[in-house]
Amino acid sequence: SDIANSLAASIRAIHDYPKPGIIFRDITTLLGNAKAFRQAVDELVRPYQSLSVDQVAGIEARGFILGGAMAHQLSSGFVPIRKKGKLPHQTVRMAYSLEYGTDEMEMHVDAVKPGDKVILCDDLIATGGTAEGAVKLLRQLGADVVSACFVIDLPELGGRRKLEALGVEVRTLVA
Ligand code: 5GP
Repeated sequence: SDIANSLAASIRAIHDYPKPGIIFRDITTLLGNAKAFRQAVDELVRPYQSLSVDQVAGIEARGFILGGAMAHQLSSGFVPIRKKGKLPHQTVRMAYSLEYGTDEMEMHVDAVKPGDKVILCDDLIATGGTAEGAVKLLRQLGADVVSACFVIDLPELGGRRKLEALGVEVRTLVA
């Protein structure tokens, strides 16, 4: 679509970052482009407008920017899912897989209530390991993870299938 094309054009590709052979999708150029930022957030929230979403959960760090804007537009709450050791109150923790090894993410124990309708948000889905950890963490607290959304999909890495296998709908804007 025209919108997908103009969003794609607002994202910068950085070759050999963070290491040789990787093409990093840099969304700071999208965020810094007023029209593209509004369009991206409008497209992200569109499917959820009539759902009475309780919380948007954003994955640190770029998921905070997009998810915060989504939550405002949906009049929902916002929940940060953070790298371990950053949150001040009691947390629940979940290991998740990275390209090499694992890491852990955390949420406050009282960040969502059982039955809350939650939309998960991040800038990009690659292998889906990060988002899978976030879904498991949210479900551990009883959340109903209605959908997960991302600006960018790297489809060859299989993240969409991984989340769909968990029963989570996946929406992306740009492949
Ligand atoms: P996954 O767990 O799906 O393999 O990787 C997705 C996570 O890594 C997301 O939190 C995303 O922000 C980050 N990530 C991986 N590659 C890129 C990239 O090329 N650009 C951006 N902006 N984020 C990336």
